[in-house]
Amino acid sequence: MIYGNWAYQKKHHDNYRAYEIVWMGHVLGKRESRRLLGDVIVTEQDILTGRKFPDACVPTFWGIDLHGPHPRNTKHFPGEEFIALADHASKREQPFVVPYRALYSRNVDNLFVAGRCISVTHVALGQVRVMRNTGTMGEAIGLAAAVCQDKSCLPRALYPDHWDALTSRFSEAP
Ligand SMILES: Cc1cc2nc3c(=O)[nH]c(=O)nc-3n(C[C@H](O)[C@H](O)[C@H](O)COP(=O)(O)OP(=O)(O)OC[C@H]3O[C@@H](n4cnc5c(N)ncnc54)[C@H](O)[C@@H]3O)c2cc1C
Repeated sequence: MIYGNWAYQKKHHDNYRAYEIVWMGHVLGKRESRRLLGDVIVTEQDILTGRKFPDACVPTFWGIDLHGPHPRNTKHFPGEEFIALADHASKREQPFVVPYRALYSRNVDNLFVAGRCISVTHVALGQVRVMRNTGTMGEAIGLAAAVCQDKSCLPRALYPDHWDALTSRFSEAP
């Protein structure tokens, strides 16, 4: 896809003709790949109804944003439907706040997750996967990992047994 887009730019836009690609990540990011299952799987309905989880910890304002092949390209680039059509609800006035229980694995005892691999459905991922949100997930699980270390507990035990210890760290964080 990248080389195809690059070739298109070079062929059709004068200002790209002299440019070269000098570096590209060899394991490429995509909008969606594997996700781990946590004790909560966040769904589209949770987001649309503004469900408030008691272990809410990562606020997300981006509206649900889904990308699929652009139907127009079947006509213009038959067999090469690589250009995406974005179906993006507008940003939210009030955040949907991702629960802590979507940020660790339910069946690998000592594994936190942050980023587009968290425990959400395909549609819910369209809301949470943008970079500010994924960075905030990293902050939340970094603090959670410190609490797990202090309390000698695994990620799953933190919410029922040591939630106050985590929320007091949230309020101290810069
Ligand atoms: C085309 C596109 C446009 C986007 N536009 C925006 C935007 O405008 N704004 C926004 O906020 N978000 C945007 N996003 C979403 C956002 O960039 C991603 O959801 C986010 O970067 C995902 O972060 P991540 O850490 O989960 O995964 P990644 O950023 O993909 O990080 C995973 C890392 O793991 C590495 N890796 C994979 N396998 C291995 C391995 N076996 N060993 C070692 N390393 C490995 C990869 O090389 C990669 O560096 C866009 C995404 C795409 C694809």
